[in-house]
Amino acid sequence: MRRRTLLQGAVATSAAAIAASALAEESAASNLDQGDTNEMLSWQVGRVKITRIVEMDLPVPAEYMQGATPTELRKMPWLYPHFVSDDDSTLNMSVHALLVEAPGMRLVVDTCVGNDRPREITGGEPMSTPFLEHLSEVGWSRDSVDAVVCTHLHVDHVGWNTMLENGKWVPTFPKARYLIGRAEYEFMRGVDDAEQQAMLGDSIAPILEAGLVELVEQDHVISPEIRLTPSIGHTPGHVSVLIESEGQRAAITGDICHHPCQIAHPDWALGDYDPKAAVLTRARLFADWADQPILVIGTHFAAPTAGRILSDGKTLRFEA
Ligand SMILES: [Zn+2]
Repeated sequence: MRRRTLLQGAVATSAAAIAASALAEESAASNLDQGDTNEMLSWQVGRVKITRIVEMDLPVPAEYMQGATPTELRKMPWLYPHFVSDDDSTLNMSVHALLVEAPGMRLVVDTCVGNDRPREITGGEPMSTPFLEHLSEVGWSRDSVDAVVCTHLHVDHVGWNTMLENGKWVPTFPKARYLIGRAEYEFMRGVDDAEQQAMLGDSIAPILEAGLVELVEQDHVISPEIRLTPSIGHTPGHVSVLIESEGQRAAITGDICHHPCQIAHPDWALGDYDPKAAVLTRARLFADWADQPILVIGTHFAAPTAGRILSDGKTLRFEA
């Protein structure tokens, strides 16, 4: 079963492998061209605006979340209706990019799966979504992007780094610096997995060859308002993104968690490379962010995608 492959800790994919299973078991076709369902959400954090561009919805069978059961999910009424289906069978998730516009800086955080490349997450078929059209609908040209951050190097976070042009992979954002964690890159280039190597070939090698990659440390400062923070576990070099402007704060999770249920249950897991470290990272960051005026934006959270973490007795919950 694909699920067993995933939960045994394949490093290459997480949401990817899960979605592949979901797609294989349900109807692949209906999930592959979800770009038209893009629900444009945006949030203002001081002088920084963050906009969500959806590539596809990602319905994931609830049993794929290690630890989750219908009974336990039902104990968290705040998960409904946005994040769990009425019958408790499906965790509603999403693959989206976050456009961060700060003074003098346009940054894309995570670049989804991308078009024209067959991946497990797309049921092995190349996608063709209007991702770039959605980008221009909010006034962003490819040339206007100053920087790209990949929170980690999994297929659903790096795809639109590049695009296929006349049979050749070229940088989608030719004037951007692509910020990639040094530790993440060093680890991932050695991973013995065919899809991971294909991803490095079509989504990373072309931006390296174009001289656009900057290998950065996990606490890299991008601009006065935006910085990275280490959040290892899901992958060895994973980073999250912190934003602060005019006293307001936001955090972009990356894949430290895939679903809001993990805010209450940091020990629930979905394909983490280092499960122990991942649990510690979730517990540490959620505790840091709880009851603070910090907008937490989930990289795979379905709409409404952002909210606050609040104490709820002995546990935490997410209030979208
Ligand atoms: Zn992911």
